[in-house]
Amino acid sequence: DSKPSLIDDTITTQMRTLIDAIKKHNYAYYVLDNPILEDSEYDQLRRSLLELEEQYPELVQPDSPINQVGDVPLSAFTQVTHDVPMLSLGNVFDYDGMRSFMRRVNERLSEAQRNTEYEMELKLDGLAVSLKYQRGQFVQAVTRGDGQIGEDITQNVKTIRNLPLWLTDAADIEQLEVRGEVLMPKAGFERLNRLAQESDDKTFANPRNAAAGSLRQLDPSVAASRPLAFYAYSVNQGLPEAIKTQSAALAWLQDMGFTVSAVKVVNNPREAQAYYESVIETRDELPFEIDGMVLKVNNLALQQQLGYLSREPRWATAYKFPAETVMTRLNDIEWQV
Ligand code: NAD
Repeated sequence: DSKPSLIDDTITTQMRTLIDAIKKHNYAYYVLDNPILEDSEYDQLRRSLLELEEQYPELVQPDSPINQVGDVPLSAFTQVTHDVPMLSLGNVFDYDGMRSFMRRVNERLSEAQRNTEYEMELKLDGLAVSLKYQRGQFVQAVTRGDGQIGEDITQNVKTIRNLPLWLTDAADIEQLEVRGEVLMPKAGFERLNRLAQESDDKTFANPRNAAAGSLRQLDPSVAASRPLAFYAYSVNQGLPEAIKTQSAALAWLQDMGFTVSAVKVVNNPREAQAYYESVIETRDELPFEIDGMVLKVNNLALQQQLGYLSREPRWATAYKFPAETVMTRLNDIEWQV
């Protein structure tokens, strides 16, 4: 009998409601830079939809946003197709999740390759940008967009103070693609919001949205007046062949004149956990916001071998920090007890 059952109808209705809500919030966050929900509330919507899809795979809706990256860019900027798609990252939230991630990596590797080292970076809370350098000269900056097509924001990115516009040591590299995060440091964000308040302008929900909003200004002089910074975290085209690991790639980027964030190489889940916890301890002292750590298989050849799974690499994951609101609630409870 091919007639849908009552239960199928109910599940489909639930899925439709979640899809509509997620689409609406994606638009507010990625296109308008003006989120309505807290990230943890939004993540809950996604998790609810994912659970339904896992339980009822035959009811998955063709326009489900579960495997979607970001959102379709605004049309005000020239659209650019990425040479290499810009994906998202999977998430883990605790020690067990992080161990399972490493186990899944191991399962895909040969015996000799297993228990490979990981490199850990701060998960910078800004927005991903792809930069192109031709023979050492900065030529283009593009947002992630929906992962395939982004917006050309070259004129705005050019105004970022710590961005090298000319790489002396890359003059012999035909095309270099560097990716990283554009962010607004906390102090600059607070100053910007204070000024906006004083002149009755719209304030930003958080530094990430302020950075995103600044990069989408049509007038580059506005972006130039915003305190933005660029932190490089990968080389996606043009990396010299002698460089075999992610940590060496970041050291190379630093030698070229890019700012990179703290990096640590770890050998097992225990070492990863210790570093993760030590970063949580000092998180507040950092000049910018981070929402977790990123764990990456350090060996670039193994990254290539592991490849991608729909919207995320198999060789990396985000190890998210507990949501701050939850921590506050826990503290309140402890305090009340
Ligand atoms: P993500 O931010 O969780 O992870 C992928 C991104 O991490 C990359 O694109 C890159 O920009 C960034 N990143 C930072 N440091 C990095 C490093 N060292 N190496 C590699 N990448 C690094 O995924 P996403 O798909 O960009 O967005 C999901 C996030 O957006 C979630 O936190 C979600 O809660 C939030 N969101 C919120 C709403 C809302 O309504 N509040 C709506 C949509 C999305």
